[in-house]
Amino acid sequence: MDRLALPVGGAGRVVLQSRVDEDSSASCNAGMTNAGVEPALEPRSLGLAPSLALYAGVLVGTTLLGARGLEAGLPAGAVAGLGFFALCVLFLALERWRPGQRSWLRDWSDLRVDLPLILLAAPAGAFVQLADSLARRLDFGLWPAHWPPLAQAALALLLGDFFRYWFHRAEHSWLPLWRIHATHHSAERLYCMNGPRLHPFEVALSGVVQTVPLALLGASELALALQVLLTLAIGRFQHCNIALTLGPLDYLLSTPGPHRWHHARDLETARCNYGGDVLVWDHLFGTFHLPRDRAPSAEIGIPGGESFPRTLWGVLVSPFAWPGFRTTR
Ligand SMILES: [Zn+2]
Ligand SMILES: [Zn+2]
Repeated sequence: MDRLALPVGGAGRVVLQSRVDEDSSASCNAGMTNAGVEPALEPRSLGLAPSLALYAGVLVGTTLLGARGLEAGLPAGAVAGLGFFALCVLFLALERWRPGQRSWLRDWSDLRVDLPLILLAAPAGAFVQLADSLARRLDFGLWPAHWPPLAQAALALLLGDFFRYWFHRAEHSWLPLWRIHATHHSAERLYCMNGPRLHPFEVALSGVVQTVPLALLGASELALALQVLLTLAIGRFQHCNIALTLGPLDYLLSTPGPHRWHHARDLETARCNYGGDVLVWDHLFGTFHLPRDRAPSAEIGIPGGESFPRTLWGVLVSPFAWPGFRTTR
């Protein structure tokens, strides 16, 4: 049976992550001896107060403007799409103004794959919608519909991320799932537009895993729409290349600091910070990793990633065709 270069239990079971901190520390220390390890943030980082103000402003602004759009009758998909591209315009400007990693601004050839993958997320999202509407027929009526909408959205965010956490963790431990998740990790830089650098199969599967349990519980459409808006803003920050100083937020939400550790080229080090929006599940299940005494390497990607396809078609067929899956085990 094909396996990743990661310790797994029998039949693809995920091994508990109690080893992650010590293992990743060792990996990181080893990595520090190699050339190519750069500081995470170049000079001129935004200070804590401006960074937190920017984060809060984008989160609140996205939620309020998105809610306005929904009230005006725009379809949720259109609101999410418009919000995504509007935030990307803002973030691309901020990344140029205060880049976290200046070397990541030089090569934009990855847009040739990243942009079409964003567009291909739409049909995969339609599949998730179909699964959601089927699950709603079994609505168990357990959702606290009497809570204020924002509290419901926060609950949806927490619960949805719980299921996504375990799916993501399985993607890093079980080769059939890693084959589709490797597309995301094949990115060699992080910037605001490659958070959705996902194989369409992953968009569909991860979306179903995250959404269907909420539909079964009877989560309201409004709660889910607000959750999508929160995720939209958190997701832009997660991959952004802005020199931010987010302090305590790095322990609560999936911000660029902890997420860069998750993109470590060394797959053992990358087995951490699986949370898509929140990090509470990483804290609870022992996979949170954010050393304060050293920075993650700017050399991100996957082992053997130099041969990973650079064309859309190549990326789409990579789960079945990339020979690197045989050599990176
Ligand atoms: Zn991952
Ligand atoms: Zn990522």
